[in-house]
Amino acid sequence: GVRHEPTNKIVLDLERLYDDASEDLAYVARYARAIQQQRGDYNGRVLSIRADDLRALAIVYDSSPSGLIERLNEHGVLVADPRAFFAS
Ligand code: C2E
Ligand code: C2E
Ligand code: C2E
Repeated sequence: GVRHEPTNKIVLDLERLYDDASEDLAYVARYARAIQQQRGDYNGRVLSIRADDLRALAIVYDSSPSGLIERLNEHGVLVADPRAFFAS
């Protein structure tokens, strides 16, 4: 049957990501820096990334996109709702 999965945007908390000292997120951080560079988006506290890029990044981690999302959540570097994030 048809699966209805929420298509939530992947939004990274850049401060937490770049402050995270663990080796585990090194590739995510490098990728995020490259995306910032390509967009010329240097001053943001958060970064929305493409689903395609998440898929590519999951391969680097020998994981699935949902597996990588889980890992990012464990490290607390995902922003659930960027608008609420800025409202506080
Ligand atoms: P491009 O893919 O030809 O996209 C040109 C412009 O279309 C982007 O300029 C952006 O304003 C808009 N655009 C394309 N796709 C989307 C989208 O899914 N959402 C939004 N909000 N806008 C979109 P921008 O941002 O200056 O990016 C310039 C170029 O840098 C892009 O050209 C692309 O080659 C690369 N790039 C930027 N961000 C990413 C990214 O997250 N992943 C990848 N793979 N490439 C990116
Ligand atoms: P904002 O820049 O004031 O954008 C508010 C809302 O306008 C966004 O909500 C989104 O729905 C829409 N919007 C803004 N720019 C674009 C765009 O280029 N394409 C499309 N399709 N919609 C756009 P959203 O996504 O929930 O983001 C909330 C806030 O989070 C944004 O407020 C911004 O401050 C921040 N944010 C989210 N993603 C990024 C990012 O990749 N880079 C930066 N620098 N900030 C981001
Ligand atoms: P968004 O801007 O709200 O776009 C949501 C989805 O609409 C994108 O999911 C993509 O499937 C489609 N979309 C929006 N604009 C374009 C476009 O110009 N060309 C094409 N082919 N599709 C488009 P996706 O790719 O997963 O991206 C998620 C979010 O990542 C985007 O949300 C946007 O906030 C950010 N993003 C992705 N690519 C770029 C980019 O090149 N530049 C910028 N500034 N932001 C991007």
